[in-house]
Amino acid sequence: MAARLRLENKVCIITGAGSGIGLETALQFASEGARLLISDINPTSVEEAAIKINKKFPTAKTISTKCDVSKEQDIKQMVDKAVEEFGRLDVIFNNAGIMHPADDDAINTDEKVWDITHNINVKGVWYGCKYAILAMRNNKPEPEKGLGVGGSIINVASFVAKLGAATPQIAYTASKGAVLAMTRELAMVHAREGIRINSLCPGPIKTPLLMDFLKTPEKLNRRMIHNPMGRFGEAVEQAKAVVFLASDDSSYINGTDFLVDGGLHACYVTPE
Ligand code: NAD
Repeated sequence: MAARLRLENKVCIITGAGSGIGLETALQFASEGARLLISDINPTSVEEAAIKINKKFPTAKTISTKCDVSKEQDIKQMVDKAVEEFGRLDVIFNNAGIMHPADDDAINTDEKVWDITHNINVKGVWYGCKYAILAMRNNKPEPEKGLGVGGSIINVASFVAKLGAATPQIAYTASKGAVLAMTRELAMVHAREGIRINSLCPGPIKTPLLMDFLKTPEKLNRRMIHNPMGRFGEAVEQAKAVVFLASDDSSYINGTDFLVDGGLHACYVTPE
C-alpha cells in the first residue's frame, strides 16, 4: 500500500491565502493531499488561487471564501463553511497579517495605525483560534482516513517579535509579540484536548508585504547586511515548515516559537 501524503484527508484552512506565504502554503498543502478552504480579504485573489490549485491537484479539493480576519463573524462563517463542506477541521493556518506603511516609532505612530494593525494581526489570530478550537473539539477519530481527535493550529508571528530592530515599526512588532504570548498560553490550555498550537516566526521573506515596504535600495541593504545567508527567504521555505507543523510529523511539538529565518536570530556578526 502506498504511504499516505502528509496531509491526506486533513481539512485545513488558510487565511490571507491570496498572496505570499499563504498562497505558497495553499499549494504545498494541496500537494500533500489536504482538503482545503483558502480565504482572504480580497476574494478575487483566493478564487483565482483555488482554480489554479484545483487544476494542479485535482484530487485535493480546494474551496475559497472572502474573510476579513478582523471581523469575528467572517471567521465564524469561514470555519462553518469548511465544516459544512468537509465535515470537520484538522488544521488552521492563521496567516493573514499587515505591516502598515505609516507604522513607525513610539512618537510618530498614529493610534489608528496601531489599532488597524492589532485588529488584524492579533484579534484576527485570536478569532481564528477560537472558532478552530470549537470546531476541533467535535473531531471524531476516523482511523480509515488516518484522522484523529484534536488538531493543529499555526499562528504567524515574526522574527521581529524575538529581536530588537532600530528600524522601528512599533505596532507591527508589538502585534507579533502578542501572537507569541497568546499562542503559548493557548497551547497550554488546550494541550490535553489534543490540539497543538504553535507560532511560525518567518525571517524577512520576498513577498509583497516586505518588498513593497523596502522600496529603495537603501532600505533593502540596511536589512540585507544582517542576514547571515546573504539573502531574504522565499515564501515556499515558510510553506514547507507550515506543512511540518500542520502534519503528524510534528506530533510532539507544541507552544513553540518556530523560527524559519536563515539563522538571523542567532547572528552577532555576519560572514564577510
Ligand atoms: P502578503 O502581503 O504577501 O500576503 C498577506 C495576505 O493577507 C494578502 O493576500 C492580503 O490580502 C491578506 N490580508 C490582509 N489583510 C487581511 C484581513 N484583514 N483579512 C484577511 N486577509 C487579509 O504578506 P506575507 O509576507 O505573505 O505575510 C503573511 C504573514 O507573514 C503576515 O502575517 C506577516 O506579518 C507574516 N510575516 C511576513 C514576513 C515577510 O518578510 N514577508 C516576515 C515575518 C512575518
